[in-house]
Amino acid sequence: MGDMTATPASPSSDKRVLLAAPRGYCAGVDRAVIAVEKALEQYGSPIYVRHEIVHNKYVVQTLEKKGAIFVDETAEVPEGSIVMFSAHGVAPTVHQEAAERKLATIDATCPLVTKVHKEAVRFANEDFDILLIGHEGHEEVIGTSGEAPDHITLVDGPEDVENVTVRDESKVVWLSQTTLSVDETMETVDKLKEKFPKLISPPSDDICYATQNRQTAVKQMGAEADLVIVVGSKNSSNSVRLVEVALGAGAKDAHLVDFADEIDEAWLEGVSTVGVTSGASVPEVLVEGVLEWLAGHGFEDVEIVKAAEESITFSLPKELRRDLRAEAAALHKKQ
Ligand code: SF4
Repeated sequence: MGDMTATPASPSSDKRVLLAAPRGYCAGVDRAVIAVEKALEQYGSPIYVRHEIVHNKYVVQTLEKKGAIFVDETAEVPEGSIVMFSAHGVAPTVHQEAAERKLATIDATCPLVTKVHKEAVRFANEDFDILLIGHEGHEEVIGTSGEAPDHITLVDGPEDVENVTVRDESKVVWLSQTTLSVDETMETVDKLKEKFPKLISPPSDDICYATQNRQTAVKQMGAEADLVIVVGSKNSSNSVRLVEVALGAGAKDAHLVDFADEIDEAWLEGVSTVGVTSGASVPEVLVEGVLEWLAGHGFEDVEIVKAAEESITFSLPKELRRDLRAEAAALHKKQ
């Protein structure tokens, strides 16, 4: 094979990059990351964060350097400290554990995840069987299921439908994780409807606007791309879905990378069009790194593929407006 290192673009180069818009940070991730930064500013280090605040390696490492301590369980947080819950949401039992350990809490659950929790509670109160479409073991699914464990059954993709049973076929509703593939979810829903014709749908979309828009953009570029590079972490559900959607839309090849240095030069063999996008938990600086790497390999020409405008923002968690240190100290004293 010839030399694959930094080939400068010639004027007649047919190499180009299609850059998806929207990509990267969604409103829920932006809010959660700012919440950790604000908490560190307001209260100083350490701020404990239960689970990765958002599923991105770089974001987690950057916040760690600023004084955030990431833990797996609330039990690891010293009594009287401040703990933040991640954007993926938590089950009510986690709030109870935190209260028992006299922790002051900041809940950075994305409001669009909270919306699904509320739907679950409402349908459980009406004694529905809730079929929650999502990925087994994902933090969001664990949190949502915890709202009504006796009423919720997880359905992990279309192939899982044959195993699903319900108590009363006339009282069944489906809900979903916010970061799934739109098309695969509808395939699962269709199969569920064949099995349970009276199945009702959630009052509004559970798959969030950011997941949907990023998938629409990658679909638009997929058919034209020889290679799609998705910037995102392997545990980021919406980022992994973007790779699948790109391949489903006709991209010849697609890969997920956390950083530009994970790109393999061999992927560029015979490639003239590279699609680039990033998951909802990915800061733009990482995409810039990928674009620079591509420019260094002859892909300097960048065209934007725009699927939607986004203007949604969420206000910061309400707890950041209270004096949490004083609250934690008072709770500690009361013991
Ligand atoms: S991906 Fe969607 S649900 Fe998840 S944090 Fe972003 S806006 Fe919220």
